[in-house]
Amino acid sequence: MDTVHTLADLANWSYTGTALAVVGHPVAHSVSPPMHNAALARLAARNPLFAHWRYFRFDVPPDDLPRALKLFHAKHFHGLNLTVPHKVLAFGRVATVDAAAQPSGAVNTLLRADAGWHGFNTDGHGLAAAVHEELRRELAGATVLLLGAGGAARGAAVECVNRKAAALWIANRTRSHLNALLKELAPLAEAAGVPLHGLTLEELAARGHGGLPAHALVINATSAGLRVNDAAPVALARLPRPAAVLDMIYNPPHTALLREAGELGLPHANGLSMLVHQGAKALEIWTAGAQIPVGSMRAAAEAALQKK
Ligand code: NAP
Repeated sequence: MDTVHTLADLANWSYTGTALAVVGHPVAHSVSPPMHNAALARLAARNPLFAHWRYFRFDVPPDDLPRALKLFHAKHFHGLNLTVPHKVLAFGRVATVDAAAQPSGAVNTLLRADAGWHGFNTDGHGLAAAVHEELRRELAGATVLLLGAGGAARGAAVECVNRKAAALWIANRTRSHLNALLKELAPLAEAAGVPLHGLTLEELAARGHGGLPAHALVINATSAGLRVNDAAPVALARLPRPAAVLDMIYNPPHTALLREAGELGLPHANGLSMLVHQGAKALEIWTAGAQIPVGSMRAAAEAALQKK
């Protein structure tokens, strides 16, 4: 069941139950399949309606995503999760987007409708729950330094604004991607009264302690750290002392950023809690409001990570 499927497998798809899947590139690191299949087994024990629901894993390169989305729909997949690097790409390829996901310009959860895919973004929900659960903090009233401007960062940025962060600083490697996000986010931030600042990662490192906020909640939403030897997107010691650090990456569990946070004695957490809560929200959408066994999802995700 935990095979990495490809577009070729999709063309010959023969599973007759209700199929869900995570679609990414790379996707082998994801523990979403065991996490969701554990939840589905629990749901099936309570309600036979879920007996033939299964969650699969697909590696689809970005160029193939438009074709894949059509094929998943034609093969009657009920729902999809999109992970790196597909969230922004898919936003423009779905039939309709949930109003709450609209300002983020990114979708991570798709629900099948007859006319095509309906897109949602559950990353912001997952992030807020993780910050509360792991760091005993809230996005509301926090000064947030968000690293990244991709799909996950977009969901996170909208959540920070909606929850009325004290200020939102966004730092990204590529200036054009940063500027695109700042432009889309500016009206929402202005309406919410949340000061918005943007700079590149290079500018962030160069500024050092000057002109940056102290006690920021640093959130890594870049992919820097996904590979074990990746450098951290920023050296924490060069920033004014942060309040806490959350890295959305959960595999590997201790990125260079989190190792430095530990060395500096800062409260820190990886992205496992966020994964669990964004996944639980997605499952709630696909099941039209079933009571989700969040504890089973966490236990299964932790067990799968132990094996990796
Ligand atoms: P994405 O849309 O592809 O965006 C990737 C982001 O990472 C962009 O901002 C990109 O900057 C930046 N980046 C990539 N390589 C970098 C490097 N070497 N140095 C600095 N910045 C770099 O991907 P995504 O969907 O947003 O996912 C981002 C990360 O969040 C992934 O690691 C993913 O696994 C994680 N995530 C975790 C959860 C969870 O539930 N725990 C949920 C969502 C995402 P450019 O604009 O310069 O390309």
